[in-house]
Amino acid sequence: MQGAGMTSVSRRLLGRLRDVMAGSGSAQDRLDKVVKLIAADMVAEVCSCYIMRAGEVLELFSTEGLKKESVHQTRLRVGEGLVGDIAAHARPLALADAQAHPNFVFRPETGEEIFHSLMGVPIIRGSRVVGVVVVQNRTMRHYTDEEIETLETVAMVLAELVVSGELVNRAELVPVDGNALLPLRMEGVKLNGGVGVGVAVLHRPRITIQRLVAEDPDAELERLKKALTGIKLALEELFSRPEMRDGEHRDVLETYRMFAEDKGWLNRISEAIRTGLTAEAAVQKVHDDTRARMSQITDPYLRERMHDFEDLANRLLQHLAGGDGDQRPGAADLPEGAILIGRNLGPMELFDYDPKRLRGLVLEEGSATSHVAIVARALDIPVVGRVKDVLDKIEPLDQVICDGDNGQVFIRPPDDIRETYIDAIGQRQLRQAVYARLRELPAITRQGVRIGIHMNAGLLLDLQHLHDSGADGIGLYRTELPFMARSSLPDVAAQTLLYKKILDQAEGKPVVFRTLDVGGDKVLPYWNPYEEDNPALGWRSIRITLDRPAVMRSQLRALLRAAQGRELSVMFPMIAEVSEFVQAKRILDKELEHERLAGSPLPTKVLVGTMLEVPALALQLDALLPMVDFVSIGSNDLTQFLFAVDRGNPRIAERYDPLAPAMIRFMRYVAVKCNQYRVSLSVCGEMAGRPLEAMALIGAGIRNLSLSAPSIGPVKTMIRSLEIGALEAYLNTLLKSPDHSLRNKLKTFALDHGVVL
Ligand code: PEP
Ligand code: MG
Repeated sequence: MQGAGMTSVSRRLLGRLRDVMAGSGSAQDRLDKVVKLIAADMVAEVCSCYIMRAGEVLELFSTEGLKKESVHQTRLRVGEGLVGDIAAHARPLALADAQAHPNFVFRPETGEEIFHSLMGVPIIRGSRVVGVVVVQNRTMRHYTDEEIETLETVAMVLAELVVSGELVNRAELVPVDGNALLPLRMEGVKLNGGVGVGVAVLHRPRITIQRLVAEDPDAELERLKKALTGIKLALEELFSRPEMRDGEHRDVLETYRMFAEDKGWLNRISEAIRTGLTAEAAVQKVHDDTRARMSQITDPYLRERMHDFEDLANRLLQHLAGGDGDQRPGAADLPEGAILIGRNLGPMELFDYDPKRLRGLVLEEGSATSHVAIVARALDIPVVGRVKDVLDKIEPLDQVICDGDNGQVFIRPPDDIRETYIDAIGQRQLRQAVYARLRELPAITRQGVRIGIHMNAGLLLDLQHLHDSGADGIGLYRTELPFMARSSLPDVAAQTLLYKKILDQAEGKPVVFRTLDVGGDKVLPYWNPYEEDNPALGWRSIRITLDRPAVMRSQLRALLRAAQGRELSVMFPMIAEVSEFVQAKRILDKELEHERLAGSPLPTKVLVGTMLEVPALALQLDALLPMVDFVSIGSNDLTQFLFAVDRGNPRIAERYDPLAPAMIRFMRYVAVKCNQYRVSLSVCGEMAGRPLEAMALIGAGIRNLSLSAPSIGPVKTMIRSLEIGALEAYLNTLLKSPDHSLRNKLKTFALDHGVVL
């Protein structure tokens, strides 16, 4: 019954600490008393408290048992000694023989050589370590897990004292770059395109917990239960909204609901309540502990999932604070034109803010596949992610520009930059209105050559743009995105349902489904990626699905079923040689046969094609083209492989231009071949969505483009002003040029020939 004993010790200690904290005297006096109390209560000869000072130095602030002269003298860098180790890793240490530990450093001024055992825990506030509290004993004492827990609980109380600003200036606790009020441009990663100008609203200013210690754990457990019920009701309400009926953002919230019922997490909170904490302090403790430890984890999926917990913890705190969860700080009085700034957001949190007032979202973390990015895409809010330490550099109501198109953020921008952006937004809106009018007009050049304009899509939500953009169909449906939003591999039935919805919503327009293209930078949550030195060249895409044919089979079966009585187009990604295509096609044929034998209705027609994104395949076109119905060039990966340039590495991203003669010659070669074999050819990488690049592609002989919805208007405008004959003749003269890029020459051509870019 060790646990029960610890609980009462801990509760008694907490009660005393509360009295000291509420008592009179300076902060230093109170700290000294607290340290003394801990030592006595935990039967330790030493208790010391180290506090983080500017420059990541831990200073001994108070001690019971070590030499008093060392107070405010002994300092350790983060990572130095055992105390520094605890701070660096934000995790407790309990050692019966501390001096035998390789990180032990001896500080003679403390007189600690006579103490053999040591237990220390970090003092955490938010996600930051603000200090370390340590107990030591003369004997080689083996501290129990319960004792560590007790010290962690005590550390929470100490955290309040540390951040009160009475011991060290609060400014020391917040790392700033010294330029806090100057204009700042910060780089991040584009998570959703678009541009927003507005004022900073910091996502969820901290809720300060007033009461840490409770008399009656049962009452606290009851409060916790009530708060959880409140959250569940709020989730039910969210699920009942029309916009939540389907789509990947519903999957995201389903996963979130699962977390809300996670037993391990709830048990840890209940346990903390039983040690004497209030419900909110218990939530905070479990939350802080996990968060600090999470900062060590590099696995992006695990990190993302932690934010689901974080969102839940915040929501619980609000419910416990008496709100019904709808009164988020900052959400109720959201200014018109707000740019939301946060470390990360949980999937449900974006729904707290009125999307009509939100102009952008800036995150310190996040990735393209993070749940919040998926939801933001659905709500059409520009997002810049991974803006390091942005929260430390921004004040509420600062002017902010969130440039999702270029993955950058301007904080307190000078007026000229701000006005330029506001103008650009106005222009963009005007242009959007013009593009909307273009919707009904065909994409034909001045001489009447028709260019097929298809749309790239990856979420059910994208389908709404298929009709309002006037695209001919979907030239690339990236099927991996819904796989990434879930917590497990969707089965055939779930996939069938999804693909059916896509085809239904396409209303007869053709849709090219690309089979699973994961690996590289697209990690599936439920597959442990292998550690690879070169993931872009590694086990990815078709290589995975050929090695795991069951995954491929279930996807193809679902596609065949979804397309019963309609036409189906299937495209295989990352094919590097014809034999891979043959292998993949064989699986498809088998599935078709399986469906036929089972007597299931079949698609009226099955068209099969491949992506061309690995250059080697271009040298096998004579073998490939007789077997395929269509080819689509993935210029994103193709550029990467043609120039040997990592597409995700910003340092070299700009080094080679897709408008290099080599690339255009490549396109031309493939276009001529496909023409010869009467195989339909398109380009579906980012290149197709930029007017100048699209112009070059058309000049090289490409007649079908597949691009994202917002690019359709500008590209169509370009096409309708283009004279192909003149362009082809001019481009022919450039193909042998030694230039790094044809960009400037093509720009001049466009200008001279009235091509609207
Ligand atoms: C490409 O590589 O160009 C492409 C369209 O595929 P993804 O960007 O999905 O890899
Ligand atoms: Mg690709």
